Amino acid sequence: MSLTRLDKPVQFLKGVGPRRAESLARLGILTARDLLYHVPRRYDDASTVTPLSRVEPGMDVTAVGVVRSKGVVPTRSGLRIFQAVIKDDTGICTCAWPGQPWLDRGLRVGDRILVTGPVKFFHGRQIQPREHVVLERAQEASPRTHTSISDSHTPIPPPGPPRPIPPGTVFVTYPASEDLPQWVLRRVVALNLEQLLRHVPPEDHLAPAARDALGLPGLATALATLHGPASLDHVAPARRRLAYDELFFLQLLQARVRHHLTLARPGIAFERTNRLVRALHDGLPFKLTGAQIRVLREIYADMAAPRRMNRMLQGDVGCGKTLVALFAMLLAVEGGYQAALMAPTEILAAQHAARIREFLAGLPCGVELLTGSATPRRRDEARARVAGGEAQVVTGTHALIQEGVEFDALGLVVVDEQHRFGVRQRLALAERDPAPDVLVMSATPIPRSLAMALHGDLEISVIDELPAGRRPVETRLADPGGRAEVFREVADRLGRGEQAYVVYPVIEESAKADLRAAETECERLRSEEFAGREVALLHGRMPAGDRDAVMRRFVAGEIRVLVATTVVEVGIDVANATVMVIENAERFGLSQLHQLRGRVGRGDRGGLCVVIPGAVGEGGDGSAARERLEVFARTDDGFEIAAEDLRIRGQGDFFGAEQHGHGAGLRFADIVEHGDLVGPARERARALVDRDPELAGEGNALVRLVLERRYGDRLKLFGVG
Ligand code: ADP
Ligand code: MG
Repeated sequence: MSLTRLDKPVQFLKGVGPRRAESLARLGILTARDLLYHVPRRYDDASTVTPLSRVEPGMDVTAVGVVRSKGVVPTRSGLRIFQAVIKDDTGICTCAWPGQPWLDRGLRVGDRILVTGPVKFFHGRQIQPREHVVLERAQEASPRTHTSISDSHTPIPPPGPPRPIPPGTVFVTYPASEDLPQWVLRRVVALNLEQLLRHVPPEDHLAPAARDALGLPGLATALATLHGPASLDHVAPARRRLAYDELFFLQLLQARVRHHLTLARPGIAFERTNRLVRALHDGLPFKLTGAQIRVLREIYADMAAPRRMNRMLQGDVGCGKTLVALFAMLLAVEGGYQAALMAPTEILAAQHAARIREFLAGLPCGVELLTGSATPRRRDEARARVAGGEAQVVTGTHALIQEGVEFDALGLVVVDEQHRFGVRQRLALAERDPAPDVLVMSATPIPRSLAMALHGDLEISVIDELPAGRRPVETRLADPGGRAEVFREVADRLGRGEQAYVVYPVIEESAKADLRAAETECERLRSEEFAGREVALLHGRMPAGDRDAVMRRFVAGEIRVLVATTVVEVGIDVANATVMVIENAERFGLSQLHQLRGRVGRGDRGGLCVVIPGAVGEGGDGSAARERLEVFARTDDGFEIAAEDLRIRGQGDFFGAEQHGHGAGLRFADIVEHGDLVGPARERARALVDRDPELAGEGNALVRLVLERRYGDRLKLFGVG
């Protein structure tokens, strides 16, 4: 199958010569298809355009007019101002660009321009455009080719006296660049759009029936609409179509990964004898929550099936994920296999081992901790017990798997905290013999649609319930002015034998940002607020050995106050640490704050978390930040916080953090706006791959081609091409 028409380099398009081709390339537009997908970033219509007669100082307007006169006006202060008088059918108005005299070269008398910006009063009304766009170039083209994108079916008459803006006219603004101005892009698109659109329908992988079921337009219609919508209302449905395509191909990539993870290698059908699982269950001093029972059923079903399990277990800190994982490990062990639990740090691995030993006291199940810091002799002994099968539950860091520790019969791998354990690591596990089941625990609750988009290759289980009687961490938003009082309260708690964290956004002070920094503040706290107490610094740039030593001393209670950066987010679990102060809290994402707060919700004494935003001059940036922090202080529900974070900060942060993930590169899809499309995209992608894993069938040639075009590098990287 060839799709050569749209693969043609832009240079062969009308209105594009070698020089413009270079400029287009710098915007990432190499082929005709790239040009089609280079859609406007902004739309204005007559309803948002203010007639010039109604422009008043104090307004922020979008206006359209033809340039009648222009020039650079010097001022006494030496500032040179470029001014242009524009006219529409209601009147005239001055536009002024202080300090941008060079714009004089870019605008011609007779140009029709769109301006957006505040209206000031200087010897009369004056728009000061933040942005301006040349909609039509004066004397640039013959009337025949002088077709605007916005109404490509009605040729615009040659420049003459300004005409009223026809109702419904939409003005589009493309992402442009200095050497490829707006009007050039508009012209190139106008010259080629109709022709190019004719080649789109054969590229549409959604059959009309499927399209209708999803309520989406055809691809050609969507692209045509985005370049020249008849009305603003048409833009969102058209974007939705492109969003669906992105989500679908991302899911298709992930479905291919999933196929490799679950089907390409035989899995283990674990046999449940209840020998250990029942004993653990009966010995628990509490009842499992409904959510724990539900996810355990999901996990048992996966493990009993001959297919490999690849499941993510999501839930807030303290909801009981680790206990659920322990049940899964015992199921593996009673079925005759070993289970490994991998933690992000050695200390956490040791804590896991200790807790598991407590739970399993008296049960016939060997627990082993493998760490890099053990003496070589001990390490060899431990490794021998793992290789010989006497150790059935093994905890350690991710090095457990990566350094090729030998197991007798590894049947299940549990990964605590997903972010450093990505697709590639999961795929590497599938190469082992036998290929172990995988359970990934994540304490970052995220909305389901986002979880599916990020981790389409995994099944997802959610624990959305905390054990009864759990006290939420008391959270307070303090004024920077109240800092002294906050630290007095912390000192009181230290006096009662408790421990504290103080968290800063940066390690060192810098001229660039006026933020409180861990290093300097640590010195200050040590000599002032917490004089006489053991105060230590912990940050990510310390050598790993030093970091471990500090954490160990904090766990042991020798260090009373840990002054840290976000390294404490994961990797430490100290029940006696009950209070946390977070400085310059506006610098952290809500989900990150929630993770941090989870560190002091561990014991049965009530935890306290105080967030202090920076004052003005300390990186404080006013009310928006405060509103966010208020949300954080108000709710203890990680899912609610994540949804809020997603709403406020957008999905970039989430996709950015998943560095080993699929590198989503979503341009059109917005998980908040298009979240409802993720499920259908996933279902279709999985169904396709289930029926035709290699997408080798005739009917799948098109999707395979598009998948390769979008994700060829990933398919190769993951070895699933
Ligand atoms: P997570 O891994 O989700 O952070 P853990 O499994 O470590 O949570 O559980 C946190 C604490 O709650 C542990 O001390 C654990 O023993 C306890 N716990 C787990 N499940 C329950 C339950 N159903 N009822 C009461 N306590 C529980
Ligand atoms: Mg845990």
